[in-house]
Amino acid sequence: MSWKTLDDLDLAGKVVLTRVDINVPVQDGRVSDDTRITRIVPTVRDILAKGGKPVLVAHFDRPKGKVVPEMTLRVTLPALEAALGQPVTFAREDFKPAVAAMMPGEVMLLENIRFFPGEEQNDPAFAQDLADLADVYCNDAFSAAHRAHASTEGVAHLLPSCAGRLMEAELRALDAALGQPARPVVAIVGGAKVSTKLELLSHLTRKVDMLVIGGGMANTFLAAQGHDVGRSLCEHDLADTARAILAEASAAGCEIILPSDVIAATEFAAGAEHATVAADAVPGDRMILDAGPDTIARIITAFEGAKTLIWNGPLGAFEITPFDHATLTTARAAGRLTQDGRLVSVAGGGDTVAALNQAQVTDQFTYISTAGGAFLEWMEGKTLPGVAALEQGN
Ligand code: ADP
Ligand code: MG
Repeated sequence: MSWKTLDDLDLAGKVVLTRVDINVPVQDGRVSDDTRITRIVPTVRDILAKGGKPVLVAHFDRPKGKVVPEMTLRVTLPALEAALGQPVTFAREDFKPAVAAMMPGEVMLLENIRFFPGEEQNDPAFAQDLADLADVYCNDAFSAAHRAHASTEGVAHLLPSCAGRLMEAELRALDAALGQPARPVVAIVGGAKVSTKLELLSHLTRKVDMLVIGGGMANTFLAAQGHDVGRSLCEHDLADTARAILAEASAAGCEIILPSDVIAATEFAAGAEHATVAADAVPGDRMILDAGPDTIARIITAFEGAKTLIWNGPLGAFEITPFDHATLTTARAAGRLTQDGRLVSVAGGGDTVAALNQAQVTDQFTYISTAGGAFLEWMEGKTLPGVAALEQGN
C-alpha cells in the first residue's frame, strides 16, 4: 500500500478536487438513503480542518455523456448540506471561475461529471481540465475505482494525489483480508450461479486456505461430482469447469467445503415443504434451497480454526424463510468470533450485504464493503485503475 493519505499533503489554501460516490437512491425528488453521503463527511471535514477547499466531483445515474436535466446532482444538495452541517455551493457549469471564487471554509459540488463525454472516455484533455481546477486530487470513491474514468483515474496522474478517509478505510480492510492476511484464511463464495463468479472461485483457490462453496452454485459442484440435484438451480453445462476448479484447489492445497447435507424443498417459496437430506440423496422432485445442519457445523468449525474470513454470496435462498437459516447462523457465528477478537471478517456484495443486515451482524464484522462491483473485482484479484493511479502517485 503505497498511496498517500490526507495526512501526507499540505492542503492549506489549496483547492482539493475530491472524487466521491454520492450516487444515492432518490424518490420523488429526495434522497431516500443518505448512507453514501454520510460516509464522505470525515474526508470533507478533514480537508476543511487542514485549510483546504474541497471541490466535490461525482456522478449520478447514467447520463452517458449528455446533459440530462433529471440526472442533476443538485438533488443531493439538501442531504449533503444536512450531513456536513454547512451550506454547499453548487456549480452547474463554468467550473473554473466558480472554483476560483471559493472562500476559505466553503465546500463546492460540481454538476454530474458524467454529463461530460470526456469523463467515461477518460479523455486526457478532459482530465487536464479537471486538474486545472485544483492543486491536489483526493480520491474517496473506492466504489468507482474499478472504472478508469477521467475523475477516477486520469486526473490522478496530473496532480499530487491521495486517498480520502473512506478509500483509506476500505483499502486497509481489504488488505487485511487478502493482501497480507493472518492465516489460515477461509473464504465463502455463495450466491446463485457459478457462471457469474468463475474468476472469483479460481482466484481464491490460489489465495485462501479453505474455500466454502455454498448457495445455488454449490449445486453445480455437487452435480459435477455425480450427485442428482433434482430440480435445483444448477448449471449442468459447467460440470467440467466445476471439476477444473476443484482440481486447481487441490493442486494449490486449498481445502474445499461443499454441502454434505442440504434443505430440499418442493418449490422456491417462503414456507415451502422441506426436509434435511444428505447431499447425495436429494429426491428428484425437490430443489436445494439451503445448507443443512451438518454443513453449518462444519462451516462454523472452519471459522473457529481460521484467523481471517472473506465472504461473498449467501449460502441459501435467504430472501425466503426458513431458507435463510444457514446464512444467518453462520453469519452470527462469524460476528461472535470477530467480537471475541478471534477472527478478521470482511464481506461484500449486494445480496451479501442485505443478508448480513438481516442477520443483524453489520456492526460485528470487521468490515462490510458496500462497493459492489469494485469489491468483487478486488476479490477477483484484479487491479483497480483508480487505486493503481493513486499508487503510482504524483
Ligand atoms: P451477491 O449479490 O452478494 O454477490 P449473488 O447475487 O451472487 O450474491 O447471489 C444471491 C442470490 O443467490 C440470492 O438471490 C439467493 O436467493 C440466491 N441463492 C442462494 N442459494 C440458492 C439456491 N440454493 N437456489 C436458488 N437460489 C439461491
Ligand atoms: Mg446479487
